[in-house]
Amino acid sequence: MERHAGLAADDPPATPAASSQGSPSRRRAPTASRVIARAPAIRPAYPFSAIVGQDEMKRAILMAAVEPAIGGVLVFGDRGTGKSTAVRGLAALLPPMAAESGCRYGCAPGESCDCDTCREVLAGTRQSRVRRVPVPVVDLPLGASEDRVVGALDLEQALTHGVRRFEPGLLARAHRGFLYIDEVNLLEDHLVDLLIDVAASGENVVEREGLSVRHPARFVLIGSGNPEEGELRPQLLDRFGLSVEVTTSVDIAERVQVIKRRDAFERDPIAFAQEWAKEDVRIRRRLLAARSRLAETRVPDATLESAARLCVHLGTDGLRGELTLIRAARAQAALLGDGIVVDSHLRQVAASALRHRLRRDPLDESGSTERIDRALAEVFDA
Ligand SMILES: [Zn+2]
Repeated sequence: MERHAGLAADDPPATPAASSQGSPSRRRAPTASRVIARAPAIRPAYPFSAIVGQDEMKRAILMAAVEPAIGGVLVFGDRGTGKSTAVRGLAALLPPMAAESGCRYGCAPGESCDCDTCREVLAGTRQSRVRRVPVPVVDLPLGASEDRVVGALDLEQALTHGVRRFEPGLLARAHRGFLYIDEVNLLEDHLVDLLIDVAASGENVVEREGLSVRHPARFVLIGSGNPEEGELRPQLLDRFGLSVEVTTSVDIAERVQVIKRRDAFERDPIAFAQEWAKEDVRIRRRLLAARSRLAETRVPDATLESAARLCVHLGTDGLRGELTLIRAARAQAALLGDGIVVDSHLRQVAASALRHRLRRDPLDESGSTERIDRALAEVFDA
């Protein structure tokens, strides 16, 4: 049977260089000699812009990428709802980061961490050399030891050379990128605590085994969980900035779209990524513009009052919810290109910022999203 070139699942993928111009999907595979000359094709991430629906999740991850002080995103939902796909897709559309070559912690040039390279660059005894690296997405596997997460004494160096050397852990690798925890609700509480602490402070401090190391570790924490498989303690829930619920759509047209795109991607990932590249670039521009606009995005007192009224109405404990609500609304305004944060921005982000902070109300059996919607109506439409 004759196959249509480029459409069969087992066709060799075209090289990125070959598919970067012209119509990629109909291009013939390059000749063997050219293949040798080029770098091997890397399977691209599923494009962020091609994700069907799941708007709340996409918006939450975008907001956290614009304003890391929001403090991470919890994504609750069934398996196969594209939770990790969204994180990977977003990281992939960001421009590569400039990093100090040789820095063990992936610092930006001039960030000057405590590593030998950065210290020598700062002292002027070494010339700064910059390399471009992709924005990292680090997976935190279930059952990862604390050593692996925070870093530990390099035992091999210690035993063979008698040198005390720090072996950086997953937190170092996640610096300036995303740390993704699948099934965060199954992770040990003390590890979740530690991750949230580091995410909030932007610094990893290791003091043990005779080591004393501190290095920058600023990342966006994304935790995913299946609520049917165990719950997070409320104290931990509250420390996550945003939470979203994702579900498998029951809308037939939407499901068809999901399958179509997933199938097209599996058949020819490079061609599919090319097809969505323009949309991804639009999102990238929006995100980068929002980041640079964020500092000037103003929150007037009237909006602060609205946020306070909403939180009082919902009875959320402490100030964390209110602060997150404001930060998320500011990030959302920046993403929309609005210079002033108003009530409509609060409305758009209230569910994500507050739903995991509601106390159980024995007299109210409705879901948290519903309760927030009702409070929004009562506070803003009164
Ligand atoms: Zn360094």
